[in-house]
Amino acid sequence: MQRIAIIGGGITGITSAYALAKRGFDVTVFEKHRYAAMETSFANGGQLSASNAEVWNHWPTVIKGLRWMLKNDAPLLVNPRPTWHKLSWFAEFIAAIPRYADNTTETTRLAIAAREHLFQWAQDEQIDFDVKQKGILHIYRDKAGYEHAAKVSQLLHQGGLERRAVTPEEMRAIEPTLAGSYYGGFFTESDATGDIHKYTNGLAKAAAKRGVKLNYGHQVTDLGADENSAWVSALVDGEEVHQSFDSVVVCAGVGSRAIAAKLGDRVNIYPVKGYSITVQLDDAASQQAAPTVSLLDDETKLVTSRLGNDRFRVAGTAEFNGANRDIRNDRIQPLVRWVEQCFPGVSTQRVVPWAGLRPMMPNMLPKVGPGKLPTVFYNTGHGHLGWTLSAITAEMLADAVDHSTATSLAATR
Ligand SMILES: Cc1cc2nc3c(=O)[nH]c(=O)nc-3n(C[C@H](O)[C@H](O)[C@H](O)COP(=O)(O)OP(=O)(O)OC[C@H]3O[C@@H](n4cnc5c(N)ncnc54)[C@H](O)[C@@H]3O)c2cc1C
Repeated sequence: MQRIAIIGGGITGITSAYALAKRGFDVTVFEKHRYAAMETSFANGGQLSASNAEVWNHWPTVIKGLRWMLKNDAPLLVNPRPTWHKLSWFAEFIAAIPRYADNTTETTRLAIAAREHLFQWAQDEQIDFDVKQKGILHIYRDKAGYEHAAKVSQLLHQGGLERRAVTPEEMRAIEPTLAGSYYGGFFTESDATGDIHKYTNGLAKAAAKRGVKLNYGHQVTDLGADENSAWVSALVDGEEVHQSFDSVVVCAGVGSRAIAAKLGDRVNIYPVKGYSITVQLDDAASQQAAPTVSLLDDETKLVTSRLGNDRFRVAGTAEFNGANRDIRNDRIQPLVRWVEQCFPGVSTQRVVPWAGLRPMMPNMLPKVGPGKLPTVFYNTGHGHLGWTLSAITAEMLADAVDHSTATSLAATR
């Protein structure tokens, strides 16, 4: 049986482990934390959103971003201090602008394909992850934002997604708790939300039942590979352990770039920080006043999800400031104010803030498949859509490993 090491126990590592185990591979996951999904897959926006498949490599987005750089509470913040990593990432981001339409359509297609696997696995393994299949409503306050969204809908349509325009009256009927005045919206009935942390941990338990070894508390310190095999060194309770495998799969989130460099590959992931707040809906009045339909406010770039009866998650903002994980109060407050404006009946007395680093590729498409060596694979760099895309990229990764194993077996015959 082929032995595969997976580096990282976030949503991409655990879905990869599960998909590979189902195909009969002997899988070991290395995760430095004591549990799965303790980094970027911990408290994200919760959206399973094909309707958010638009890539950011677009001149109007770049111009909007430059304007935002001059505003303190804007959704985007760039530390102006240049680093080679940041400069090379932005250069590749700009170079991907001609692929804006194609990459948006491709992301839509992948997001739709992911749903089938993600929901099937949850059903097969009885995973409770506070799923809500009530659609996602994109909201617009002005004509310009709304008209741009209408063009995006055409690209989403090419990728196979139906997203319909809705009037302010229809928006109120879809989500009656939403306060404020709006120009219009777009509604995607087929989108959903759920708790990524609960899902990842549920799937990790299911993977373990299928024989996956979950090496939690294993910090990978070194690794290598050649044409025929791979090895991993990890620090466990201060002791170094060394193990050999047939192949290695890199799913290490923002750590993937450094790991890829050791394996001879360039995977130019930049850590793009985002924040979330989880509003604790402790009283019946707040539970009534909070939305159950998921929202995406395109002007503030905030997304929401209702997690069970008593949690309301709001997430967003993009900060280019290296691997800095500080939770800044001046970045959290706009999220709290947004809740107070849009849902005035919700108490914001108890709000849990969080920050995470999106592992973002410059062209905004994940890196999935083999590296330079036949024993090295990647399933990483999912940026702002890792929850949405993970189930399909895990299947794609498993296809690539399957294919490579079949090819090398044929060569040895
Ligand atoms: C604010 C915010 C909101 C978001 N909202 C959404 C949303 O609504 N919908 C959506 O689809 N996506 C969303 N995302 C994106 C999504 O959360 C990420 O794309 C996804 O969680 C990334 O998963 P991952 O497995 O690649 O990385 P991670 O979850 O970070 O997992 C990588 C793991 O690798 C481990 N690791 C790294 N290096 C090592 C090492 N050397 N040894 C051992 N272990 C190691 C880490 O400990 C970590 O657990 C959001 C992200 C943010 C920040």
